[in-house]
Amino acid sequence: MLKVILPDEYSFCFGVERALELAKKHMNDGELFDTLGEIIHNPHVVKEFEKKGIKVIKKPEESKKRKILIRSHGVPPDVIEKIKSLKKEIIDATCPFVKHAHESAKKLVEEGYFLVIVGKKEHPEVIGIQGYAHGKGCVVLKREEVSKLHLRGKKVGIVSQTTMLLSNVQEVVNAILLQNPKEVRYINTRCSTTERRQNATRELAKKVDVMVIVGGRHSSNTNRLYEIAKEYAPRAYFIESYKELKPEWFLNAKVVGVTGGASTPKVDVLKVKETIEKISQGGK
Ligand code: SF4
Repeated sequence: MLKVILPDEYSFCFGVERALELAKKHMNDGELFDTLGEIIHNPHVVKEFEKKGIKVIKKPEESKKRKILIRSHGVPPDVIEKIKSLKKEIIDATCPFVKHAHESAKKLVEEGYFLVIVGKKEHPEVIGIQGYAHGKGCVVLKREEVSKLHLRGKKVGIVSQTTMLLSNVQEVVNAILLQNPKEVRYINTRCSTTERRQNATRELAKKVDVMVIVGGRHSSNTNRLYEIAKEYAPRAYFIESYKELKPEWFLNAKVVGVTGGASTPKVDVLKVKETIEKISQGGK
């Protein structure tokens, strides 16, 4: 019979748990609020919140409520100022790992380093980190992009998006070193939870025939898990729900690995596991 294996951690990370707990606490106290962006990258969870009157807004000005929740990704300081100027209260669910990235970026710029953020320009977390650098420095995702920078003789400070792959960050750091800067200072702002999950996914993917990654398509950390799984597992799939599973994915498979991202509810991963087991017994 087909065996389905889960790693030790396969669901909400501590930053997401913390954001959801803060939101629930305020809801239980009868306080309605809006969230600046989706509270987590998971459509089912966002829908549940919406049913309870918690609206997702894109800008603080859109809110008609007294409080605004800042999700675990954090926001740039000018957004905090904007909320305050609107006389609204902030429920701050910024993850402590993200706060560390904010503080590190700010410190490096204040100390005169040219800041390089390794990450995705358009990701809300990166926009927040760059805000703390007061618009200074730049964002690069791949080592090829470093060649466009002129770093010879400069003091270069480096931080990264919390969910970046270590190998990706290393490649960018090495490309920066090749430009002969005067000094390079790297502050590790990768999140340890992400690192543990990436390592566990790598180890699991090495020993299974098929790997299934469960999570929201917009979730950066879940996308990274999928990239790792693809490298090691002969067959890897990324799904949001058990409904997307296809029996042909598991033909002749003996062992399947299943894991979820930091914003994937436990119940979604367990439902995928259960469905794969049913498929292996001839049903769905
Ligand atoms: S993945 Fe890491 S940085 Fe992001 S919210 Fe979770 S614990 Fe925080």
